[in-house]
Amino acid sequence: MLWKLKQRYQKWLEGEKGTILKDWGGKIRIALAFPNRYGVGMSNLGFQFVYDALNRFETVVCERVFYPEPEDLAMLRQSPGGLLSVESQRPLLDFDLVAFSVAYENDYTNLIEMLQLAAIPARARDRTSAHPLVAGGGVALFLNPEPLAPFLDFIFIGEAESLLPDFIDFWKQLEHSSIGRSEILRKMGQSVEGIYVPSFYEPVFNSDGTLDSIRPLDGCGLPERVASRKADLSRSPPCRTAVLTANTEFNDVLLLEIGRGCGRGCRFCAAGFIYRPVRYHGLHELLQAAGPENSGTKRIGLVSAAVSDHPEIVHLCSSLLERGASLSFSSLRADALNAQIVSALESSGRQAVAIAPEAGSERLRRVINKNLSEDQIYNAVEILAQKGILNIKLYFMIGLPTETGEDLEAIVEIAKGIRHHVLYASRGKTRLGTITLSVNSFVPKPFTPFQWTAFAGVGELKTKAKWIQKALGKVPNIRVHFDMPKWAYVQALLSRGDRRVSYFLEKVGLDGLNWRQAMRSSPLNPDFWVMREREREEKFPWEVIDNGIERKFLWEEYQRALEEKESPECRPELNCARCGVCGP
Ligand code: SF4
Repeated sequence: MLWKLKQRYQKWLEGEKGTILKDWGGKIRIALAFPNRYGVGMSNLGFQFVYDALNRFETVVCERVFYPEPEDLAMLRQSPGGLLSVESQRPLLDFDLVAFSVAYENDYTNLIEMLQLAAIPARARDRTSAHPLVAGGGVALFLNPEPLAPFLDFIFIGEAESLLPDFIDFWKQLEHSSIGRSEILRKMGQSVEGIYVPSFYEPVFNSDGTLDSIRPLDGCGLPERVASRKADLSRSPPCRTAVLTANTEFNDVLLLEIGRGCGRGCRFCAAGFIYRPVRYHGLHELLQAAGPENSGTKRIGLVSAAVSDHPEIVHLCSSLLERGASLSFSSLRADALNAQIVSALESSGRQAVAIAPEAGSERLRRVINKNLSEDQIYNAVEILAQKGILNIKLYFMIGLPTETGEDLEAIVEIAKGIRHHVLYASRGKTRLGTITLSVNSFVPKPFTPFQWTAFAGVGELKTKAKWIQKALGKVPNIRVHFDMPKWAYVQALLSRGDRRVSYFLEKVGLDGLNWRQAMRSSPLNPDFWVMREREREEKFPWEVIDNGIERKFLWEEYQRALEEKESPECRPELNCARCGVCGP
């Protein structure tokens, strides 16, 4: 039956532009695994970038592996070892290293199952020299690696541009060495800054179940905390899609990262803290990377936490448009929208744009430090509508700290207000747009000022969602989509949990239980990690990572949130030392 799988891979390869096929002779063999399906993985810019970056080393051959399509899963479960790489269609046991790129906590169980499908023991302690090393990297893991710690031999903490060269250098030195697996890992954790080897760290818990500490084992010589690596973007080419294919969410669009991080300091947003300080690629490098002559397509998706904050965004857009590109943006700040940016979208034929008020009321937007007034939101919508962009997607969250019934009412009111502004600005036009609300459950994330808060709870979130649905359900031209609070609960468990949470992952990923069964089977109540407000001094499992942000700064930001006070933007150019990342 493996021929069916191979046929599928062949079809994928035929539909791709940019596939990297390398000879295996004498090279380090790396299987870059994405714990979700091909279409999801190929839409992930981080995964694409690492595939390209690893293959740029002459000494490396890197091939992709994905979580199987539903049609293949049953067959692979019957024949462990059948999970293959896409390029050469070899089993994962033929590789030196299986490296997972992990962007979302809810993919953790897929990762564990992929190991099983590859006939690699899921628990790191059960692997031997007959197995490849198994690593993980990606934003979910450098937010909190602990729930996956028992399954990974080592974890890349930080950004690939700065980590990979040191890692490959270390590996090359090993080539003729005969040291064992455990010693390789210990030396790696010692010599490569940003490599976390969980088996050399031991969590210690207090009698009430809270964490006392995570310490390196006596005498192992590994650091107390693992420093997260940050890249100097001025010395690295921009991340961009390496392999174009129509089989993705973005359908042959070249994604181009124009900057990393965001200086706005929204208190719910992990990317706004762990990628500090905000950095941008220069105009020249971006134009070079996106030029149709280099990219093979004229459809460019500009990617960053806040695309419109790039200091040269107007120039970048006009230059790309002059070269015949059609543009889309991953995110737009309502207060940074101006006529030139909207014209760029209009000329590119965009008919829909997303903006993110996140909260309905100005009070709650102050709590989350969104720094966005109602007037700015309405103004943005009018600019868009005047240019004929009448379909507006609005992102909101429910379950935010301090949220009240009035804040929910404000979501309904602002949605109706936006609808009115769109209708008014488009009066006389035959076509009416649609306002689509995407309402998501707030999940408190590590390394944000809200890391101390509790998740709102599935029942409460469902009630709030129903109320909003009822209030807006009959308003013409407004649609409302909600996420599923039960999955937000799982996400909260996996992003806030410690190593003991691996129990649930094993039950779901290996034993095939569903989440409800796994939670019921456990003597540990998952509410302990998800629903509990933390004390100021409580230790967090993710603090085994040091990404430069001071805990004191996060706590002060949390207090300012509770006092409904906004904080200024992050401005590295002003010798700022507020959060600790740019020095004391
Ligand atoms: S020290 Fe200041 S400029 Fe640097 S990342 Fe922190 S807030 Fe931003």
